[in-house]
Amino acid sequence: MLEPPLLIEDLSPLPPNQVGLAVLGAPIKHSISPQIHSAALRELSSGIPSFLNWVYHKVEVSSKDLASGLEHLNECGYRGLNLTIPHKVDVFSMIDSIDQEARTIGAVNTLFHTGEEWRGFNTDGYGLEQALKGRLGVRLESANILILGAGGAARAAAAQSLSRGCENLWISNRSTERLENMIDALGNSLDTARVVACPISQLPAGVLDCGDLVIINATSLGLNPGDPSPVSLRAFPPSTRVYDMIYNPAETPLLEEARARGMVCENGLSMLVHQAARSLEIWTGQEISVEAMFSGAQTALNC
Ligand code: NDP
Repeated sequence: MLEPPLLIEDLSPLPPNQVGLAVLGAPIKHSISPQIHSAALRELSSGIPSFLNWVYHKVEVSSKDLASGLEHLNECGYRGLNLTIPHKVDVFSMIDSIDQEARTIGAVNTLFHTGEEWRGFNTDGYGLEQALKGRLGVRLESANILILGAGGAARAAAAQSLSRGCENLWISNRSTERLENMIDALGNSLDTARVVACPISQLPAGVLDCGDLVIINATSLGLNPGDPSPVSLRAFPPSTRVYDMIYNPAETPLLEEARARGMVCENGLSMLVHQAARSLEIWTGQEISVEAMFSGAQTALNC
């Protein structure tokens, strides 16, 4: 069973020999980040025993409590934080020091306390790139990509694809206004000339004819039972590869259809694990075992 989250107002200082890490969000009870990070910390401690004193918690923090919560967490001995819904964008106004990658994406999912201040990073784009390479054999350099969505996760996917030099990038989203805003914002730091915004019901011929297309679902469609697929795969060739950022449920309607059509496809667990590994590298300065994190994640999801 997943452990219940801690409440920010109930946190008390950690013992002086402990180093605290945490994921903050609202709601946060379904997060499996503690099991993923604890598995990697256990593995690290077999070589460097002091990592036995590192702990990773999930902490429920509402938007209104985030700014004061960050101060309180530092006072209590927390040095590394992951942020999830609804904090990734709001935190921008609360910290001064933000890594360039996070600025480009417009969201922060990792905070590291330097001893003087919280510094913001974004490891989602890195996590996606590693997942695509390892699981689908996709290299973002020269890839042809269709992203579905224009929220924070889509933004990380688009920024990573553009900064790595993808060949073509098509993006589709239910709200065209949100999509246009996203492309405008990315244009502040990246060359967006290769980006084509297109409605899902009228995909241009170039997308459908492209023999090596990668479709990335970065919408939340598929999270809830009864959700429809964000796109029908009927018109795409079987060589199309499909990555769904959703990992719970493990099989969404989009992935079911891809599998039925013989397309290579994968769910978002690999992205979750790789972004977590990068965060832990930032906090510890150590190389992290992705395998240990995967088995921690799988154990947590099978509970
Ligand atoms: P946001 O809330 O920022 O964005 C949600 C996106 O889903 C928007 O593009 C929204 O479109 C679209 N959407 C929601 N409902 C519908 C609907 N009924 N029909 C069509 N489109 C819809 O969320 P995030 O970007 O943070 O997350 C998106 C997904 O990615 C989630 O499922 C999340 O769990 C997953 N994720 C996975 C990660 C991983 O490591 N595997 C990391 C981060 C996210 P609109 O703009 O029109 O509202």
